Amino acid sequence: MKLKTKLTLGVGLLFFLIVLLSVMGSVYINKLKSDTEKILIANYNSIEFSKNMLLALDKIKSDSLIAIKDFQKNSALQEKNLTEFGEKEATQNLNLHFKNYLQQPSDDKEKLIREDLVTIMSLNMKGIERKSDIAIITAENATFWIVSLGTVCFLIAFILLFNLPQTIAEPINQLTFSIRQIANKNYNERVHFKGSEEFNDLANSFNIMAEKLQEYESSTLSKQLMDKKRIETLVNNMHDAVIGLDENHFIYMINDEALKITNLNKEEIIGKTVHEVAVNNDLVRELLKNMDHPVKEPIKIVTDNKENYFEQDIIPINIVKTGEKEKKYIGRVILLRNITPFKELDFAKTNFIATISHELKTPISAIKMGVQLLGNQKFGELNDQQKELLKSINEDGQRLLDITGELLNLSQVETGNIRLNIENCSPKEIVHAAIKNVEKLAEQKNISINSQFSINDNDFVSADFDKTVWVMNNFLSNAIKHSFQDENIHILVEKIDSNIKFSITDTGKGIDEKYHRQIFDRYFQVPGEHQNGTGLGLAISKNFIEKQHGEIGVNSSLNQGSTFYFSLPLA
Ligand code: ADP
Repeated sequence: MKLKTKLTLGVGLLFFLIVLLSVMGSVYINKLKSDTEKILIANYNSIEFSKNMLLALDKIKSDSLIAIKDFQKNSALQEKNLTEFGEKEATQNLNLHFKNYLQQPSDDKEKLIREDLVTIMSLNMKGIERKSDIAIITAENATFWIVSLGTVCFLIAFILLFNLPQTIAEPINQLTFSIRQIANKNYNERVHFKGSEEFNDLANSFNIMAEKLQEYESSTLSKQLMDKKRIETLVNNMHDAVIGLDENHFIYMINDEALKITNLNKEEIIGKTVHEVAVNNDLVRELLKNMDHPVKEPIKIVTDNKENYFEQDIIPINIVKTGEKEKKYIGRVILLRNITPFKELDFAKTNFIATISHELKTPISAIKMGVQLLGNQKFGELNDQQKELLKSINEDGQRLLDITGELLNLSQVETGNIRLNIENCSPKEIVHAAIKNVEKLAEQKNISINSQFSINDNDFVSADFDKTVWVMNNFLSNAIKHSFQDENIHILVEKIDSNIKFSITDTGKGIDEKYHRQIFDRYFQVPGEHQNGTGLGLAISKNFIEKQHGEIGVNSSLNQGSTFYFSLPLA
């Protein structure tokens, strides 16, 4: 049965019974009232009249006139109040006997009157008794019905009182408990209510919800597990080494490649901090050192008897948690990008360049030699056109030699086969040697080169003379190349702290700031310029200077000229 029907029936019945009880009570009270009224009007009054007549009869001898009037008045009232069987005859007899008495009073006649009055009184007394019996029955009936109905009301109220709160509260308590279970992810929880249809429906809906949540949970869990597996497999199959650290530097993930190159196994790593692992592992220690300042230099690691090259990258992981706005740091990933194939290609290219430039150097030198011999008057006189032609062949040959020289230098730099001959060098000698090399080039554009030395005579740099002259030479030939006709190139050599700084300033067209970093990269040339260079000079210069523990750089802006500088440590 529905709870609503149950409540309607229970409370409705109670209401109906209370109404019935009130109606019945008032009906019986009215009935009892009419019964007592009947006794009062019909019998009590007749007894009263009879008593008054008896009193008047007693006084009739002493005060006859008032007593007679009093008697007659009460007799007249009695005549109008005839209610009992035989009362009429008794009243008629009374009137007759009183009349006779008035005509000729005597004790016998008075006795007759008294007997009539007693008859009337006893008739009314009996009437009272009878009617009182009826009133008692009415009262008993009323008591019976009121008590019966009251008992039924009490029973119903009692049942409702004990049943209803429990019927409602128990399922609510059970439901509250089950909702808490669901909130605690116990999706096996089910509810079963007996009794009311509404609670059965509620239980069914709850159970369906729990089942769906269970389904959803298991499906998302398996999906998440699947996704996790997929990502793990993906990370494991990567050719790059990946190590995941949480915000407290605990290793929570490491792929097979990382295990292979670090020579570790998973069990001894997971759950440990990277610092703990670094204690017994050189590579991890190296990675840790570079963690806050990642280096761009590739790391060489020998695995499977083969040299592998890795580029280290540190990726910080920041997430925005659900419901939050701020990004939160939750760890970082150390990525060792495997660049071995590129390195191998690079080596092949460097070897190729080295071989070609080496092979070209001899025939080019031979050509230059041949050209110089042809220019010798011993072998005959040349006309002006032939001389011009030979000059041009000589220049081209020189340029080819320069290029092959640069390429050879580059291959030396790249293979790490560069050999430095560090000695105490005089900055002045370096500058003069470099100027000497470019004098002819400067003359062609009528460019003057002046130098200023803000150093002491005994200030020497610790450097490889030839390589430093080569760098200086490269700066100067670039400055000449990019200067306009009839301009001036300024060389400044100054002492700064424990270094000697060499600056070469030209008033050429300058370099846009956005290219400043790239011009020191291999093969880079400022876009839009068609020069016959290789884009290698500055890259080689940078390498030569850095190998000598010096610094190299440029200050320049478009149309403002350029200052290229390098500094070397004092000897
Ligand atoms: P390249 O053989 O092309 O001269 P470099 O490495 O010496 O190669 O120079 C790289 C590029 O830098 C040049 O192509 C040129 O565009 C620019 N550059 C170098 N020096 C200067 C300079 N003094 N003024 C303007 N641009 C320069």
